[in-house]
Amino acid sequence: MARKYAIKEVFATLQGEGAQAGSPAVFLRFAGCNLGYDVCPWCDTDWVKAEYTLDLEGTLALVRQVAEEGFGGEVPGLLLVATGGEPSLQFDRPLSDALRARGYRISMESNGSRPVDRSLVDWLTVSPKQPEFAQKDGDELKLLFTGTSTAGITPNADAVRRIASETRFGHYFLQAVDVPAVGGPNYGEVIHTVMQLGPPWRLSVQTHKVAGIP
Ligand code: SF4
Repeated sequence: MARKYAIKEVFATLQGEGAQAGSPAVFLRFAGCNLGYDVCPWCDTDWVKAEYTLDLEGTLALVRQVAEEGFGGEVPGLLLVATGGEPSLQFDRPLSDALRARGYRISMESNGSRPVDRSLVDWLTVSPKQPEFAQKDGDELKLLFTGTSTAGITPNADAVRRIASETRFGHYFLQAVDVPAVGGPNYGEVIHTVMQLGPPWRLSVQTHKVAGIP
């Protein structure tokens, strides 16, 4: 029986975060996460219920429709951001090959709790939510800075250093937790911590929230 993908939503926008911020992108958000809201009480994403359950052809058709509506077509070099939930639970070789054949550059945003096959993607962002994680290399490490106001693995600069030790990423970002219920956005303490950490750490701003886009 053909593989089906559980998908939460597909939409056209600009990548908001990290080193590729500002890039036109189709976001393919998969349903399902292997960590969940108990581990990440400040999670700002609804990934629980699949809105679509589609085979490969159906998934490609939905991505194409969104690209046509958003960008006038599947423009070569357009970013396809595989996100979730945890996209590595579902993103596989057939989907990667088919999307690349249509000209997409594939970016994945993973929590890094399980190894990611980097040959499936052109850009890998890892955003760990637990002190121990499996995927120690990639294009960017993006840590949410939970600080002192809520539970999390990043209360201070020393914790950030510990998590990032023995990792190999091209870029290192620290990002505010932007959830009012837990005291966010906590820009003040994130900026203070980036200044404490120094290079290669940089502040990641969620520019899509500033711009009012998805
Ligand atoms: S790993 Fe990511 S998607 Fe899953 S619950 Fe945590 S923040 Fe949300």
